[in-house]
Amino acid sequence: MEIIRNPKIMLDTCRGFAMKGASIGFVPTMGALHDGHLALIRASSVENTINVASIFVNPMQFGPQEDFAKYPRDMDADIAKLKQERVDILFMPDPASMYPKGFSSSIDVGDISTKLCGAYRPGHFDGVATVVAKLFIIVQPMRAYFGRKDYQQTLVIKRMAADLNIPTEVVVCPTVREADGIAMSSRNRYLSQEQRQGATVIYRTLTESAERLKSGQGPMEVSQWMQQALRAEPLVTEIQYAAAYDHETLVGLEEFKGRALLAVALKMGDTRLIDNVLI
Ligand code: AMP
Repeated sequence: MEIIRNPKIMLDTCRGFAMKGASIGFVPTMGALHDGHLALIRASSVENTINVASIFVNPMQFGPQEDFAKYPRDMDADIAKLKQERVDILFMPDPASMYPKGFSSSIDVGDISTKLCGAYRPGHFDGVATVVAKLFIIVQPMRAYFGRKDYQQTLVIKRMAADLNIPTEVVVCPTVREADGIAMSSRNRYLSQEQRQGATVIYRTLTESAERLKSGQGPMEVSQWMQQALRAEPLVTEIQYAAAYDHETLVGLEEFKGRALLAVALKMGDTRLIDNVLI
């Protein structure tokens, strides 16, 4: 596995591969790697001739009050994990090379980025769209792999790629969970043992809500039940959203016609957790 830190060298290297006809598969991450990330890396490795991963904690997608400074960084462990997989290149730029002095562009994907998480994290999806566009230009992937755990992010990136004529295929992979149902997340490291146990309420609530919806309960009623079920866990300190949504527009669902997104964002202490189930 080759490690490249310089964006210009990365671009030249990837362009060389692309010109020789290689299909580049790409998995962008912020590191603190877990099995959710590794599942994306494995999916990419079987579908492409060159497999590229990146680790970059992107300052542009964190708000001023958010956890950029304390976001878990564990480079040695991450590199050891990636060496166990088939990864040809790891791109690890530093913030100054991605956002040099004078940098001032931003990609606003519009409506879809203002819903759900966008309402609680202003500017977050502009930061995500901008860094992913930059990474797509540098890596020139034929396919890029994202997790369904960040469902809204996948909609934002698909919209951005379509709008900007970026030829990369955006592949969405299923959410990888712990044995007790909790979605794997780098931020789970912040949780105390009690909070970790309390957080199991999220997936329990999502799966039971899905059953309720499928067995004929109306989306409004199910959404109210979700709020109630989550509020019953005393370690949940704030519910930001918990409801049934249209899986394409992220507007609150009024009538269930076989497709829905059930999504939750809440805080346990200072830790913000998100999860969803797609029907
Ligand atoms: P992050 O490092 O949190 O920016 O995540 C990098 C990529 O891994 C994103 O596409 C995430 O959606 C994906 N990812 C994170 N957690 C999971 C998970 N539990 N299952 C599947 N994909 C995940």
